[in-house]
Amino acid sequence: MGSIQAEPVAVPHVVCIPFPAQGHVNPFMNLAKLLHARGFHITMVYTEFNHARLLKSKGSEALQNSPGFRFETIPDGVPPSNPDATQSVTELLYYTKKHSVVPLRDLIVKLNSNPDLPPVSCIISDGIMAFGIKVARELGIPVVQFWTASTCGLVAYMQFVELVKRGIFPLKDEKNVTNGYLENTTLEWIPGMKHMRLKDMPNFVRSTDPEDIAFNRWLEEAQDILTADAIIFNTFYDFEAEVLDTVASVFPKNNIYNLGPLTTLCKTLPASEDASTRPSLWKENTECLNWLDAQKPDSVIYINFGSIAVMTADDFDEFAWGLANSGHPFLWIVRPDVVKGKYSATLSDEFLEATKDRGVIARWCPQEKVLAHPSVGTFLTHSGWNSTLEGICGGVSMLCWPFFAEQQVNCRYACTTWGIGMEISTNVKRGELESLVKEMMEGEKGKVMRNKAVEWKKKSEIACSVKGGSSYADLERFVEFVLNLSV
Ligand code: UDP
Repeated sequence: MGSIQAEPVAVPHVVCIPFPAQGHVNPFMNLAKLLHARGFHITMVYTEFNHARLLKSKGSEALQNSPGFRFETIPDGVPPSNPDATQSVTELLYYTKKHSVVPLRDLIVKLNSNPDLPPVSCIISDGIMAFGIKVARELGIPVVQFWTASTCGLVAYMQFVELVKRGIFPLKDEKNVTNGYLENTTLEWIPGMKHMRLKDMPNFVRSTDPEDIAFNRWLEEAQDILTADAIIFNTFYDFEAEVLDTVASVFPKNNIYNLGPLTTLCKTLPASEDASTRPSLWKENTECLNWLDAQKPDSVIYINFGSIAVMTADDFDEFAWGLANSGHPFLWIVRPDVVKGKYSATLSDEFLEATKDRGVIARWCPQEKVLAHPSVGTFLTHSGWNSTLEGICGGVSMLCWPFFAEQQVNCRYACTTWGIGMEISTNVKRGELESLVKEMMEGEKGKVMRNKAVEWKKKSEIACSVKGGSSYADLERFVEFVLNLSV
């Protein structure tokens, strides 16, 4: 009797396609590193414009020389006449959807005809790039959507159809944005969501135009994601249990994988995979970490509005003087383009003089490390999802000034369900900011919120623990899922 030869199992090959923005590239990179560490072949697909920028960053070097980890590019379709679109999520959504489909399909065909590469097992495309599903279906390849934002954000977008049916969208009057209507309209009917007002829905609802491009685009993406074979969330079950259950009521529960916080899950990576480096679109200032080393525990306000948010020059000024008047030390990351219409945001000499002994300004920083630093006492944030999770991982409370998209939802959850945040008015004023900072840093409420943030930090670590953590278990399940696709 001859011996039975086992069929060789192909190395799984996963093609990752993040949306071209820092807040999408970061979680995708973490996911890719985790899968690479399991022996998967990774092709990371960037847009050409971002690739050129990311290549320059330190985090890229190591990965580029890592066997089985490769980079490819597709165009983002942004016309040279509209270069600012590379900083506008809605415009990027429009251009990529229109122009990146064919290049992506050609790329996957090219990968699959390269004899030196394992066949593509599955495509993991960004939850707001449903064209990945289209391409995968055309080519008969399984497809996973990675929703890099919060699950509460997705469930909020899933209500857009209902908002139209109920006659809530479009708004009847532009004044509704400012006359208290958004605050006073409660949305108690949303499954799995409490405390929601129209004000807390993604800001795209603030339009009187039924054809509003952003509203309709997000409405579609939130429907399309449900047509994928599986969905990955960067969250952990305890943190967003009710909204995760809502998604599970309309999508097969077994094909939902909660792998968050990915930054914490990455701490389980072997030393051979460098968990700490990550490609960055801006050059990081690491000196601010030395300054933090010299500060007292829990004493510093850390301010960062992420990679996309912009504000008026007046808002910028109010933030500056609110911080100055609070009297607390601060580290403020001022992205050069954070003030609308200015290429280089600058702070007045008067402000710099007033805060020279206790304020540090930088353009971009290693945020995860900053938030994990014991000197940071609170985080003034735009409530982006990565920032929110990184704040949780650092166990810090938050002062929330949501800018756009599902940041309004994240802010509401931080201030209610999670009990870790206080909201700053959209029309920020220095006096309000000063008292919120004082309440958070010196008051009883702030203390309760800081304790709550530490509790969530512990829960997130438990979720990512190799010993029975829910996110770790979902990673194992996801690895199995892909392995089964590759046999
Ligand atoms: N980030 C960073 N340094 C900075 C500002 C931001 O490394 O100075 C990172 C941050 O850690 C996070 C991402 O950029 O991972 C921003 O994503 P988020 O979802 O918070 O907001 P977005 O930029 O998408 O609005």
